[in-house]
Amino acid sequence: MEPVQKKDIRALSREDLRSFFLTRGDQAYRGDQVYEWLWKKGAHSFADMTNLSKDTRTVLEEEYVINHIEVDRMQRSQDGTIKNAVRLHDGLVVESVLIPTSKRTTACVSSQVGCSLDCKFCATARLKRMRNLNPDEIYDQVVAIDRQSRLYYNRPLSNIVFMGMGEPLMNYNNLLKAIHKITGDEGLGMSPRRITVSTSGVPKMIRKLADEEVKFKLAVSLHSAVQETRTSIMPFNASLTLSDLRESLVYWYQKTRSKITYEYVVWEGVNDKREDVDALVEFCRFAPSKVNLIEYNPIDDGDFKQAGDQAIAMYVETLEAHGITVTVRRSRGKDIDAACGQLANKS
Ligand code: SAH
Repeated sequence: MEPVQKKDIRALSREDLRSFFLTRGDQAYRGDQVYEWLWKKGAHSFADMTNLSKDTRTVLEEEYVINHIEVDRMQRSQDGTIKNAVRLHDGLVVESVLIPTSKRTTACVSSQVGCSLDCKFCATARLKRMRNLNPDEIYDQVVAIDRQSRLYYNRPLSNIVFMGMGEPLMNYNNLLKAIHKITGDEGLGMSPRRITVSTSGVPKMIRKLADEEVKFKLAVSLHSAVQETRTSIMPFNASLTLSDLRESLVYWYQKTRSKITYEYVVWEGVNDKREDVDALVEFCRFAPSKVNLIEYNPIDDGDFKQAGDQAIAMYVETLEAHGITVTVRRSRGKDIDAACGQLANKS
């Protein structure tokens, strides 16, 4: 006999679970109990669900599986950053990172296996996009990091950034479902203000987020405010142009009143000239925003080189002179390839 293909129980909503029990002549609240085991208590097997009868557990076991992630390998950096290689139920691997500072612990989570975009400076772009992560696979990364944060740093996770592998807005529905669980009472109950979604800039999806009046923050990997320059390092910018991006960001601000963060690396010979800074200042005028100058983390043979201190100083001075907030961020976890753009499953 062919083995029956069991269904993924975590694809069911609370309502689905309630009706599952009702149609079996059982009580609907059993569905709530299962839901709580799956999401709030993070059960990995039906045997864990001790407030259900043995019969009920057997029935569930026969029809469903609980897919869950497994932290395959954990590496700890000298600066305390922890990188996890996370194995999914089908054997694929993504990475997620815990970044502790004196004030907060931040989870940096992945949204896709690989990435469909082609940023020239990013290690993840070298992997083709294999598939989107499911909502539960995104959610589980956060739960795993929250546990590590409590275990190693004696405090719960305080912030989440979607800056791991993949383009979150290319996995829009699953991203929103995951955030819904992360912020909901039946999940982790985290405030959406502590969540930042970082996008390379997909105008249509930014508009959609604005229409849904989401409450989390938005960061955009800008890297250049000059159309040709940006296209040379982020080729998709030829069709998803800077002017479309700019309009979508104006719309975002109108709808959400939430300030945008521009992530920006300054590279030698790419965007280290006066006119590059001027273009950025101009771009920042359109919607309230701040600039985060991030350090370049080399990924290979040296096509890209971080610009020198002088260029960085020019950016900082010029932006500040125009009243634009700018921060210079140092990378964390470089020694274990856990820094921005370095996530590429070396294992
Ligand atoms: N796809 C999303 C999120 C993943 S990348 C996005 O593009 O925003 C997270 C951040 O790391 C982005 O700002 C990205 O531009 C930046 N990044 C990518 N490669 C990098 C590298 N080698 N060094 C420094 N930052 C890098």
